[in-house]
Amino acid sequence: MWVRRHLAKLQGGLCYYCRRPFTKRGPTRPTIEHKKARMDGGTDDLSNLAAACFHCNQHRGTQKNQAKQKALGRISN
Ligand SMILES: [Zn+2]
Repeated sequence: MWVRRHLAKLQGGLCYYCRRPFTKRGPTRPTIEHKKARMDGGTDDLSNLAAACFHCNQHRGTQKNQAKQKALGRISN
């Protein structure tokens, strides 16, 4: 995906959050991160995207999912 390579290059090959260098495999492989989540009105514009390592992206994803599950819980209760 060219966007991911482009962003990783812009950031000097470092994760947007932890500043660890990207690797091809493993928890520091690059992934696309939305600085502002799409569910919060963020866009797919390059200005809203950053390259984050898999570890950081998944950590944030977990937080988002927990918030979502709480919201769903409120609806079903
Ligand atoms: Zn990271």
